[in-house]
Amino acid sequence: MNKDKAVVVFSGGQDSTTCLFWAKQRYAHVEAITFQYGQRHAAELDCAASIAEELDVPHHVLDMSLLNQLAPSALTRDIPIETMDNGLPSTFVEGRNLLFLSFAAVLAKQIGARHIVTGVCETDFSGYPDCRDNFIKSLSVTLNLAMDYPFVIETPLMWLDKKETWALADRLGAFDFVRTRTLTCYNGIVADGCGECPACRLRAAGLKDYLLEREGGVRS
Ligand SMILES: [Zn+2]
Repeated sequence: MNKDKAVVVFSGGQDSTTCLFWAKQRYAHVEAITFQYGQRHAAELDCAASIAEELDVPHHVLDMSLLNQLAPSALTRDIPIETMDNGLPSTFVEGRNLLFLSFAAVLAKQIGARHIVTGVCETDFSGYPDCRDNFIKSLSVTLNLAMDYPFVIETPLMWLDKKETWALADRLGAFDFVRTRTLTCYNGIVADGCGECPACRLRAAGLKDYLLEREGGVRS
């Protein structure tokens, strides 16, 4: 195991919880950071806090409510979740990952952590430009220069689709935990969620594909 410390950008959802397990298996000390910015449901924060506590991970919650002043997004205000005219979902908050990763870096340096782990993913990136690999590489350089500190941004999910993210959770021994304890649903329902919203549909489709593959693997 790497003796370095890591900070995981953590929402309590499927992706970031998988990243938390990934980091715990890799680094001697892991802390989690959650950003509060008027998420649709307090359930999301409660879920993140209880997962962090159960996994014995120090948990930092940062107030980012100023995002509400900047972005009229479906996650922060009561507007429908849908695809907008520009092709982006209405859940988009412009520059969110740029801001979150920069704040995570400030915290990481304070606690002596070089590694910042985030569940961003280019495969399912829904058009969010700051989820892309070239942006993450660019920001790594910028953070190193900005703080004169050798940050490494780790993106274990960057090239995985949802099925492969379930497979990774399974390899980490976290499949049941991620399936039953995480909250991805836009309607604030843990585990399988409401089954109707775009986040639930994406999660369920990946899970179905993975379970089919896993069952197929057992038979052969
Ligand atoms: Zn849902």
